Amino acid sequence: MQQIAVIGSGQMGNGIAHVFAQSGYQVKLIDIQQGALDRALETIARNMDRQVSKGNLSEQEKADALKRIGVSTDLKTAVQDADLVVEAATENIDLKLKIFNDLDAFTKPSCILASNTSSISITKIASVTKRGDKVIGMHFMNPVPVMKLVEVIRGYNTSQAVCDQIFELSKKLGKSPVEVNDYPGFIANRILMPMINEAICSLYEGVAGVEEIDTVMKLGMAHPMGPLQLADFIGLDTCLSILRVLHEGFGNPKYAPCPLLVNMVVSGNLGVKSGQGFYAYSKGSKDLVVAENFRR
Ligand code: NAD
Repeated sequence: MQQIAVIGSGQMGNGIAHVFAQSGYQVKLIDIQQGALDRALETIARNMDRQVSKGNLSEQEKADALKRIGVSTDLKTAVQDADLVVEAATENIDLKLKIFNDLDAFTKPSCILASNTSSISITKIASVTKRGDKVIGMHFMNPVPVMKLVEVIRGYNTSQAVCDQIFELSKKLGKSPVEVNDYPGFIANRILMPMINEAICSLYEGVAGVEEIDTVMKLGMAHPMGPLQLADFIGLDTCLSILRVLHEGFGNPKYAPCPLLVNMVVSGNLGVKSGQGFYAYSKGSKDLVVAENFRR
């Protein structure tokens, strides 16, 4: 396996391209927006600079890794030689079904099709292809270059051979793969998202403020980041999409998204990526400032 295509060059896609290129693979990074590709290349170079300054990467390794990344806005030509595609486009089921339908037509028959989806059924995604045995979940964590876990999700028809290949590959990237079965939210988000939703509900009901909620979970539970800051970091639109998948998939009201989360997404307050969520983010500043709506 040598040629890797990564679809979507947002915060996850650029991280996935980064780790594959750093591990010696040829990477094609694909997005519908040229601007997103330009930003992704800048982010990858900046993140590699940080590795260089910490002594974890040499200047030569950085230059070689960057040379292995090509970008494209044309899915059809960009995936034709791929041995593996990792899809990391926006968390939207109709979009992912369309992409996998196209991938089945545009890639060679031996190509493995992986999705980095946080919650959408791998079995459902595989159902729009004629190669369900080669469709798998490869769920990286954010930020990809730093986080060790890859949740490997086995769809209903995913073959053992493909599962084994993705396990081996994840290890070659320096990651620790864990196999889980294909049920809503898998393991990571089935456990994480109800906690985030409960934190948002606690804020919505006025039980405590943003900083207080995050401080309780950081100092009391030894979480490195509070749940509201983490939600901002993941993207509130992504959190809402995952909760909707859990709610619909299990038919259980305990997963119903908090109305405050819905309002924030509808109004475009998506967290770090939009500059405003539970906290306000300004370029170049590392200070954690509570967003105006939540100041007490
Ligand atoms: P993002 O919004 O940062 O990036 C999504 C990118 O996909 C955008 O650049 C967009 O232009 C692109 N895109 C949309 N439609 C496309 C298409 N048809 N073809 C190619 N590119 C297209 O989102 P993200 O946070 O990087 O999330 C991407 C995926 O990774 C989602 O499935 C999400 O659930 C999953 N994920 C996210 C996190 C997280 O912490 N944000 C963690 C793990 C997994």
